[in-house]
Parts: sequence; structure tokens; C-alpha cells
Amino acid sequence: MRRERAFQGLQCTECHTTYPKGEILQKCPKCNGLLDTIINPEILSEISKDNLGPTPSMWKYQAFLPVDEKDRIVSAGEGDTPLRKLRSFYGNVWVKDETKNPTGTFKDRGASLAVTALSSSGVKEIILSSEGNAGCSFALYSHIADLACRVFLPQQVNPAKVELSQKLGAKITLVDGTIADAGRRTEALAKSEGSYNASTFVTPYRHDGKGTMALEICEQLDWRVPDYVVYPVGGGVGLVGMWKMFSILEKIGWVKTRPRFVAVQPTGCAPVVKAYQSKRDDVDEWKNPQTIAFGLRIPKPLAGKWILRCLRESDGIAMSVTDEEIRKSMGQALKDEGLLLEPSSAATIAALHHLYREKMIDRSAEVVLIATGSGLKTLEQF
Ligand SMILES: [Zn+2]
Repeated sequence: MRRERAFQGLQCTECHTTYPKGEILQKCPKCNGLLDTIINPEILSEISKDNLGPTPSMWKYQAFLPVDEKDRIVSAGEGDTPLRKLRSFYGNVWVKDETKNPTGTFKDRGASLAVTALSSSGVKEIILSSEGNAGCSFALYSHIADLACRVFLPQQVNPAKVELSQKLGAKITLVDGTIADAGRRTEALAKSEGSYNASTFVTPYRHDGKGTMALEICEQLDWRVPDYVVYPVGGGVGLVGMWKMFSILEKIGWVKTRPRFVAVQPTGCAPVVKAYQSKRDDVDEWKNPQTIAFGLRIPKPLAGKWILRCLRESDGIAMSVTDEEIRKSMGQALKDEGLLLEPSSAATIAALHHLYREKMIDRSAEVVLIATGSGLKTLEQF
């Protein structure tokens, strides 16, 4: 007998209207709220964690993802990244090394899932705004699935990200201003041309892909949950996706607890930190964002409310670090650990120094840092 799929449809995070799977949706047609996928834990609880299969990619966890039996998986071997113990800290610290993904970032997980879901639903053309890494990822998976891909990027972008996206066949437009301006251009064009907007949280098919990091971390720790997960927050896709998967794992009994999240942002663009510390429910737009961590230069994440809700549920911590601390941490990661990180990822190491120094966490606590992207595309910032 074929097992029912855990993926049951979509639900608006604002008005809670549900939609059947198979409809090609972006935001909620009723209220323009963000959509989440409905993954039913009861069906997942019938699976054994000892019988996941050998697939050497995030698709090992296909049962947790919003895809159907008939969907053609668009994969380049993303996920299944190492969890490495860091030697240079007097503490119990691991790094989830997402630089080992096909284009060097965890964005590949979201893009692999989104392009799988969209191409299987008949979408032929996608468009998105990006700080650079998501552009490369969507260019790769669109190329594999034979979709047209167009990316809007802010002018101040790492040149390697533009070049790689173009070499993978994406059409690139550089926009004056921030990613918010690029986002407005993307939205206008998607409307006028009828192409699918796959930008962060405009599509509901990216965050579960990144959520597979939580599944892998627990499996790599022999189904133990770390005490803290330190995550650099830009659009917040990974934080929302991982929190959802940690929660599902707890519900189905594969793990006993959930971790506390530490959300890290640069002092030059810290809208989530500001909102969380002042106990707000939503995020205000950060004026004049300035930081070398381009991936974190998101003045008003679309999922602000959702990110804050996950942080509160995890009894999380939000903190900011300076560009100088980020730069120093890039040097430390490379020299002491052989990890070539981009600034956004190095922000987690800078944060860990604060957490220990200010005794916000104990050195015996088990900590996982999410190293989201490789420094190979950001060498000019080293
Ligand atoms: Zn709605």
C-alpha cells in the first residue's frame, strides 16, 4: 500500500485560509499574507528514522518536503553537508558547513525544492530579487530544469555572484538602491509579464528546503538536539524553516527537545534584533542599511512577524555584531579552522565570542553555528 504524503496543501500565516496542493500560488490570494506549507506530522510518525535510505542529499528527507510522488526532483546533490567540530573555541561548538553545497551556499536547498515544486506544476519562467547567492542557486536549478530565470540584484553586489548567475544562463538586472528596491522591480515585472516570483517568502516553497538543515543536524548528532543554533538573519528563511522542522521532529518523537535560536545581524542593519529586543510583533524598515555582510543587508524582511514568532517560541536571543568583528572572525575561521566563509557566515563566530564573553551561554552548552555561504564569492571583502 502506498503511504499518504505528509504534504497536504498551503495555509496563510495571517488569515489561516487553506489552499489545496497543485495550485500555483505565491502569497495569499485573499489577504496577501505569507503562505506556509502544511506538513502533517501524523503521517511522518509512521516512518522510522532508522530507515531513511542512502540518498546523499537533502532529498533523503523527501517525506518532510512539499512535493508529490509524481514530481521530478531537480537536484545537484545539495545538502548532506558536514557538521564539523571547531577546535579553536574552548567550548562545545560545531559548524554546519553549508559552503559545501553546489554553488557554495545553503540557498541551494531552497532553490532545489522551489524549482522542483514549480517546474512540476508547469511554471516555465521564474523571476526573483536577491543579494547574490539566491540568484546563483536559482540560476543553477533553473538551468537544470530548463526554466527561464531572471534575477534583480542591488548595484552593490559581489561581482562573482553576478558572473556565476550569468554563466548559468540567468538574465541579470542591477537595480539602484537596496534589495527592497530590487524587490519592488521584481514584483512589478512579475505582475506585468505573468512570470512566477520566487523571491524570499513570496514563494512558499523555499523555507522547508532550508529546514532540512535541522533534520541533518539532529541525525549527525545521533538524534540529539543542540542547546543553541546560531543563525545569521537576512530574510530569515533558514530560521523559520529549521524551527518548523525541529518542531516536527519533537512532535513525531524523534527528538525530545528543541534548541534555542540565536539570531545574529550586523549593527549596520539589525531590524530583527531591534524589534525582538523591544518586544515588538513586527519589524520596522531599517533606514540606510550599511554592512559588508551583503546577505544580511535586508532592511525589512518580509517574514518579520514569522521570524519574531519563531525566536520567541524558542526562547531565543537576538544580537548584533560589528563589521570589524565580522572581518576578524573571517580571518579566525580561515586560519584556525580552514573555513573560507563569507561575511554573513562569519557573523555567527563573532556572535559566539560575545555570548561567551558576556556569559549569555555556558561553555558546556552544545552550540551549532550555521555557516551559510562560502567566501570564494566574496574574496574582495576579505
Ligand atoms: Zn491570507
